[in-house]
Amino acid sequence: MSTTLKDLRPTPKTGLLDIAAYVPGKEHAHGVAKVYKLSSNESPLGASTLAADAFATAAKNLEIYPDGQATALKQAIAEVHGLNTGNILCGNGSDELLGLLCQTYLSPGDEAVYTEHGFMVYKIYIMATGGTPVVAREKNEQAEVDAILSVVTPRTKIVFLANPNNPTGTYLPFEEVRRLHAGLPKNVLLVLDAAYAEYVRRNDYESGMELVSSSENVVMTRTFSKIYGLAALRIGWMFAPAHVIDAVNRIRGPFNLNSAAILAGAAAIRDRAHIDRAVAFNDEWLAYMVEQLTTLGLRVTPSVGNFLLVHFPDDAAKSAEAADAYLTSKGYILRRVTGYGFPNALRLTIGSEEANRGVVAALSEFLK
Ligand SMILES: *Cc1c(COP(=O)(O)O)cnc(C)c1O
Repeated sequence: MSTTLKDLRPTPKTGLLDIAAYVPGKEHAHGVAKVYKLSSNESPLGASTLAADAFATAAKNLEIYPDGQATALKQAIAEVHGLNTGNILCGNGSDELLGLLCQTYLSPGDEAVYTEHGFMVYKIYIMATGGTPVVAREKNEQAEVDAILSVVTPRTKIVFLANPNNPTGTYLPFEEVRRLHAGLPKNVLLVLDAAYAEYVRRNDYESGMELVSSSENVVMTRTFSKIYGLAALRIGWMFAPAHVIDAVNRIRGPFNLNSAAILAGAAAIRDRAHIDRAVAFNDEWLAYMVEQLTTLGLRVTPSVGNFLLVHFPDDAAKSAEAADAYLTSKGYILRRVTGYGFPNALRLTIGSEEANRGVVAALSEFLK
């Protein structure tokens, strides 16, 4: 068969079709009165009412381009966290920033490291640049500094660490993060993805701001999608050395945040009472869920986030797949995590009181 010019069609660049598209948490369950979506680590408390008011205000000026510098949002973030606005860059979700960092620092053939059960988005963005994803093994569902350092080569350009990690909920104490940083060559960018930082109640945890301030090769990313309850608006930010901000700024979309996101984000981060409520709620219900699930005989990975990795028995009738089908039939949507190396576990977001009690009752029924 000869291919004529007429038959040709555009071909994605080398390696692109090897990328498996990200699969978001399911949203739907059919034939049930009420659906409890516990598959995407969204906040059961929703957004601050101040953020919702700001969003409504944005509707009055839809013909105007957004502020390409997201000034109001950067100022609010800087004020709340005591940072310099010159070291902050906002993104259309922190996912966008993770992608921009890959585009900025990876050429084809360069390597970027993440951990065995680390967040899947890293792999997608690494591969999209033609870079090579390198996986460091974990121990007890936890990132391990020595394992990460052992896979660093002269080709390594980025190390991604989700701290705490999704979907495990485990974290590295900050002394360990410092040890990781100390062991990395100075030309390797360490990206600390602190999407769940606000939830963590541990004295030995830090999100990484100090390390960013005192080095030239560390970036911390944060999101408004989790504790701020603004996932729909796509708002993330990073705190980084000025030279990193300068480089990434050159390739980002000029208006990457929309006006509603800028206004609502700025209002949300200033509403500290709402965040305090969300933290207190999570503390209470995370502990409740661990206790209840453990009592049911299920192993849960110790989590400092707003979700739990729940492991199911080897028995096929009681497997994660069977549990997922059963729970979905009752309206409880959890997240399958086979792609993260956990074929027999489900990730459960801490939901409303009703959702939490309901899912425990349903699991109890399922395990009978
Ligand atoms: C949810 C999540 C993010 C945030 O993504 P957004 O694009 O800001 O919504 C980043 N990293 C991890 C590990 C997450 O779980």
